[in-house]
Amino acid sequence: MNYHNITKEDMLNGEGLRVVLWVAGCNHHCKNCQNPETWDENGGIPFDEEAENELFEALDKSYISGITFSGGDPLFPNNRSEVFRLIKKHREKFPNKNIWLYTGYLWEAINNLEGIEDIDVIAEGEFIDELKDNNIHWVGSSNQRVINVKESLKKGEVVLI
Ligand code: SF4
Repeated sequence: MNYHNITKEDMLNGEGLRVVLWVAGCNHHCKNCQNPETWDENGGIPFDEEAENELFEALDKSYISGITFSGGDPLFPNNRSEVFRLIKKHREKFPNKNIWLYTGYLWEAINNLEGIEDIDVIAEGEFIDELKDNNIHWVGSSNQRVINVKESLKKGEVVLI
């Protein structure tokens, strides 16, 4: 997996102060996407051991609420195994922090992926320019949903945060 950036005190991509991993690779190609440079899965640089150490060191701060996976799309098919490995590692190392993930896939297409239950919040759906709304919290267009994963899995229906 390649990535573009690790931001370490981010307030715009989930609740609290967060570490955000911006991965490479997205096949949704939404019109007026803010990060088209992240579409190419070979863009950016390899997410190697050094990057992983940097990520987990940044997370190991008491004031950090948790990790957010963004991109690109963390659930781009070739990113999934690596992202779910990192999710599992985060869950084990920091059981009191939370995990957010942004994806262009709809909840219905991803809610049975192995390991999805370890994520706390999924902001999902493609960005639709015609539905752009700057007043919605955490997402860019009104079709996108910010989903409480554990409650949604428990109830068998979408529960928003
Ligand atoms: S899913 Fe996100 S990163 Fe991918 S094209 Fe759409 S807005 Fe851009």
